[in-house]
Amino acid sequence: MKDILQAKFMVEMIRTATNMYAHGWDERNGGNISLLLSEEEVTEYLDPEKVLRTIPTGFEAKELDGKIFLVTGTGKYFKNVQYEPDVNLGIVRLTDGGRNAELLWGFTDGGQFTSEFPAHMMSHAARLAVDPANRVVMHCHPTNLLAMTYVHDLDEVQFTRTLWQMCTECIVVFPDGVNVLPWMLCGTNEIGVATAEKMKTARLVIWSQHGIYGAGKDLDETFGLIETAEKAAEIYMKIAHLPLKNTITDVQMHELEVRFNVKAREGYLS
Ligand SMILES: [Zn+2]
Repeated sequence: MKDILQAKFMVEMIRTATNMYAHGWDERNGGNISLLLSEEEVTEYLDPEKVLRTIPTGFEAKELDGKIFLVTGTGKYFKNVQYEPDVNLGIVRLTDGGRNAELLWGFTDGGQFTSEFPAHMMSHAARLAVDPANRVVMHCHPTNLLAMTYVHDLDEVQFTRTLWQMCTECIVVFPDGVNVLPWMLCGTNEIGVATAEKMKTARLVIWSQHGIYGAGKDLDETFGLIETAEKAAEIYMKIAHLPLKNTITDVQMHELEVRFNVKAREGYLS
């Protein structure tokens, strides 16, 4: 068997968690990442028949049965992932219609996957249904996006339009916009179901007064998606209290659509 710590997916996961911590998005044990792996990807590094432990998930996700995920651990700190990846990360395979997870690697201190596992798995199922290339679900607490949910209207059209107006490239990076959930109790199946529902129409879902969920085809893309929205929110928080003299108009947004061959979410531009 090859050394799993040298696997491309593992190196990228560790770098991403480290980078997210460096951005200030994942204080203490905040944030969690799950990455869908193919069986071919993992068999070079571990024996998929060797199950270390079986952990009940507390939910059902029939469409994810047999799927394998590299996921961050509950109560674990992103800042520590690079030093002890085998403690802070785990590889699990969903079985029994998603009701159980078989641990194939990691969580060596007896730990288990993030408490937001339901929201992650339900979001994977929702994104895979609209985009079979989706591999990543990422949750974190970016400062300015979070701040924005205290002072900006939570209407999804208004929230999205404000972000698009803050940086020219926003509409190009997330033409599907951001969906917004009101404050809800985290770590529950209810917020998982609500997040997955919102994931059907956008790759970014704001959890008001908490953070954000992002989804994408790889770690870089998903990180970049959140990074771009967070940059826009930072601009907003710098200017929201000042008289607005200029903005990006809808006419200019339509020019961006043509130039970059993207289509803004239906009904979001005049
Ligand atoms: Zn959180």
